[in-house]
Amino acid sequence: MPEKRGARRRAAASAEAPVREARRVVVKVGSSLVTNDGRGLDADAISQWGRQLAELRALGREVLMVSSGAVAEGMKRLGWTRRPHAMDELQAAAAVGQMGLAQVYESAFRAHGLQTAQVLLTHEDLADRKRYLNARSTLLALLALGVVPIINENDTVVTDEIKFGDNDTLGALVANLIDADALIILTDQAGLFTADPRRDPDARLLERVVAGDPALEAMAGGVGSSIGRGGMITKVLAARRAASGGVHTVVASGRERDVLVRLAAGEAIGTLFVAQTPRLAARKTWLADHLQLRGAVRLDAGAARALVAGGRSLLPIGVTAVSGDFSRGEAVAICDPEGTEIARGLINYSSAETRLIMRRPSSEIEAILGFMEHPELIHRDNLVLRQQDQIAAKADLARSGRSSPRSGRP
Ligand code: GLU
Repeated sequence: MPEKRGARRRAAASAEAPVREARRVVVKVGSSLVTNDGRGLDADAISQWGRQLAELRALGREVLMVSSGAVAEGMKRLGWTRRPHAMDELQAAAAVGQMGLAQVYESAFRAHGLQTAQVLLTHEDLADRKRYLNARSTLLALLALGVVPIINENDTVVTDEIKFGDNDTLGALVANLIDADALIILTDQAGLFTADPRRDPDARLLERVVAGDPALEAMAGGVGSSIGRGGMITKVLAARRAASGGVHTVVASGRERDVLVRLAAGEAIGTLFVAQTPRLAARKTWLADHLQLRGAVRLDAGAARALVAGGRSLLPIGVTAVSGDFSRGEAVAICDPEGTEIARGLINYSSAETRLIMRRPSSEIEAILGFMEHPELIHRDNLVLRQQDQIAAKADLARSGRSSPRSGRP
C-alpha cells in the first residue's frame, strides 16, 4: 500500500528556511555538473552528493534525485566532441550515456549505504492521469522502502528536455508529482543574479525572490552553460512551476562544499524562490481546476460523513452506485446519498472495476478483480471537497491582495 504509507500528512515547509524544514526533497543536477563540463561522468561529485543525501536520510528526510548527463556522457562514450544537431543522434547519445549514469549512481550511492532505482519519465507521463497515478505510487513506494530514485527524462521517446530544459522542468514536475516540500536545483552558477555575472561586474546575487515574479525572467535571460541546455531561464521557469504546486525552490552551485547538508541545516545558499501558495492548497486547487469529470460515484451516509467530517479516503465499501464510463486515474464526482456533489477526485479503479468492488471491503478487492491497485477507491490526497475548494480559492484571493468577491457579484 505505497500510496497510503508515502502520502501521510506532513506539515508544509515554511518559507523562512524551507529546506531545513522540508521532509521530502527533490535534488536536480545538470549535465555540466554531472559530467564535469563534458569531460565524462564525475564519479567523485556523484559520490559527494550520495554522502550528503545519506546524511539527509539519516535526519529522516526523503530524497529523490533528478539527474541529467546522459547526452553528455553518451557523446563522450561515442567519441563525439561536438554536440550533434540531429535529434535522433542526441537521443542515441542519451541511450548510451544513461547506462553509464545508472552505473555510476548505483555504485557511488551504494558506497554510502543508499539503494537507488532508475526511473525514466516524460512530461506526457505526468500529464496523463493514469500514468501520473502510476508514477506517483511507484515513487512513493520507493521512498517508503528507503530507496533513492534517480530520475531522468526518457530521451528515447521524447525530446522536451534535450531541446529546452536539461531536466529543470522535469525536476519541478517530479516535485509536484510527489508533493515535495523543496526542489534544489544544483548548477554551475551561484544562483540567480540581477544580470549576467560573466558580462556585468555589477551583477548581484539575489538571495530570496518570489517564484513567478515576471521580472526574474528578464534577469535570467541569456545565462547558460554550453554543456547543458537549461541556463538560468529554465530554472526560473521551473521554480515558477514548482511554486504552482506549493514547492519552494533553491538554485545553488553544486560545486559549493556540502551544499545539500548546509541547506538542510538552514543555511542560505544561492537563490531561494519562495512559493506563495501552501502546498496542500495548491494541490487541491489544481485538482479542482484541471479535472474533467468522467463519471460519478454515490456514497452511503456513513461514507459521506467520513469523507467530509473525518478527512478520510474513499473506500469501495461506502459506494452504492456508479455512473459514467471512466478509466483508472480519471476524475469523478463524489456524491452524497441525495446525489449532491460533495467532492471530486482521481479514482484508482475503472468504472467497470468500481461496479464490481463497490459495497465490498477493501480486503476482498484482490479476490474480486484478481489484483489490488490500492485499498482506497480515491486516496485523500487525490480528492478535493467542494467546500475545501472554495476555502482554497478564498485563501488565494486574500493572498493576492484582492478581497473576496462580494455576494451577489457574478
Ligand atoms: N535528459 C537529457 C540528459 O540527461 C537532457 C540533457 C541534454 O540534452 O543535454 O542528458
